[in-house]
Amino acid sequence: MNLDKNWFSEINPQFGVAFSLQIKEKLHEEQTQYQKISIYDTTDFGKLMTIDDLFMVTDRDNFLYHEMMSHIALFTHPNPRHVVIIGGGDCGTLREVLRHPTVEQATQVEIDERVTRLSEHYFPSLCESNHDPRANLLFDDGIQWMADAPDQSIDVIIIDSTDPVGPAEGLFNLAFYRQCRRVLREDGILVQQTESPLLHLPLLQSVHQAMRAAEFKNTRTFQFPLCTYPSGWWTGTMAGNGDLTQFRVEAAQNKTFATQYYNTEIHQASFALPNFMQQAFS
Ligand code: SAM
Repeated sequence: MNLDKNWFSEINPQFGVAFSLQIKEKLHEEQTQYQKISIYDTTDFGKLMTIDDLFMVTDRDNFLYHEMMSHIALFTHPNPRHVVIIGGGDCGTLREVLRHPTVEQATQVEIDERVTRLSEHYFPSLCESNHDPRANLLFDDGIQWMADAPDQSIDVIIIDSTDPVGPAEGLFNLAFYRQCRRVLREDGILVQQTESPLLHLPLLQSVHQAMRAAEFKNTRTFQFPLCTYPSGWWTGTMAGNGDLTQFRVEAAQNKTFATQYYNTEIHQASFALPNFMQQAFS
């Protein structure tokens, strides 16, 4: 990270890439027991949260991520009532999940409470549903929570974690996916943020392999733009035993809430993958 004059840069030397936002000022920084959390005010992207100097969320483009990490899986599931979010501490995914009238309970398991407390202060719109009676905010390791969760108790699991390093590393492997399979009901769906197709293709391949080894019959990756993440091109990967190519089109078309990015055409189009990805997942 270099705070050269009034720019913040996320530098990824392993990929030879960096991305910068012009900033007005740094508003906050603290080292928690898990990570360093920083908050900036930017000239054109609103507030910015970084974790260990990696872009996490901005006011301006978080909708791309939070809508796609929620609505694709929730409209694919036939009747999502019980949802669990692993990570998601900025609470944007929780807000989108709770827009669905079928959802009876949304549990968020975030390892670092300080992420949520800072988000409540600096990103209040992302946290507007935190006091919904259906919301259940827990501060725990998602790996342990899943290991302790009862069999066949959840309809949709959303893994909205940081990159597969540090506390999030154990969220991207066979052992964890096996627990998710056990905790999901038969028609349950798992969806995970699975990084950039351009920079992290081997990871994406290993996620598909591990999810299938965990006895998820079907896996599907969808793609979407995300300006502030490395390469500006991001993915989510779904796993389930049902047909992941079908979704509740009418419910999505007649949804009772507004979205800035997600719609039924985007839902379908996001699964149209370029040749290099199709080959990688075949
Ligand atoms: N949208 C972001 C992205 O794609 O990088 C993720 C948003 S959210 C801030 C990521 C959260 O995952 C962080 O708050 C981090 O504390 C949390 N996290 C990482 N490992 C975790 C674990 N094992 N259990 C629960 N939460 C975890």
